[in-house]
Amino acid sequence: MARARKQPVKKRTAPKQKKAVRKRPTRKPRPLTAEEQARVGTIIAELARLYPEATCELDFTTPFQLLCATILSAQCTDERVNMVTPELYRRWPDAGALAGARQADVERVIKTTGFFRNKAKSLLGMARKLVAEHGGEVPRTMAQMIELPGVARKTANVVLGTAYGLATGVVVDTHVQRLSQRLGLTRHTEPKHIEPDLMARVPEDQWIVFAHRLIWHGRRVCNARKPDCTRCPMPCPARLVPQLSS
Ligand code: SF4
Repeated sequence: MARARKQPVKKRTAPKQKKAVRKRPTRKPRPLTAEEQARVGTIIAELARLYPEATCELDFTTPFQLLCATILSAQCTDERVNMVTPELYRRWPDAGALAGARQADVERVIKTTGFFRNKAKSLLGMARKLVAEHGGEVPRTMAQMIELPGVARKTANVVLGTAYGLATGVVVDTHVQRLSQRLGLTRHTEPKHIEPDLMARVPEDQWIVFAHRLIWHGRRVCNARKPDCTRCPMPCPARLVPQLSS
């Protein structure tokens, strides 16, 4: 009697994790007292006085270039990103060109920005999705942006705000995260909780420029290790040393 043939056992694989999509922060921030709200107003006004011209310090000329530069800026300084983007933009000036690039070539160009394998993978995935689903253009909504590989709320807010002038939220990078806490704008430590506090406390027409100005203050005065409190005019509960009298 012929023996029944053993069926090959199908290997079970873990289900693919879907990227967590957070189109808009959902937590309701605590309302501020009148005194706290007045202090927020002073912070906004002081930042505007100190940095009227503040803007994004990444070099770009198109929304696609800004998206590439912002992906590269993770765990890297803007200065370093600006050193590699001229070659990146020259070789792959748009999504169509980058979609056809070889990962090893992209890795070579962006190597000095760190985490270059993951970043190259994100850049290629992002460019290919733009070509396949958005006609090669960077989309204009948060929901579409955060579906792109390598793009979460911070990157989406940078690109939508700076390239398109769309205020979809407040950019919370490492500087905004640190300064929001020091200045008492939030009691939270995680970007996903800090952003709703800033969105509730800063007028919507200021969201884009407010983040740029806070980043500039973080780079120029309120550094992570050595905040220069003596020349800082902010009404700041974290002030380490008294302000210099003028
Ligand atoms: S007073 Fe000091 S800690 Fe507060 S924002 Fe200014 S530099 Fe930063």
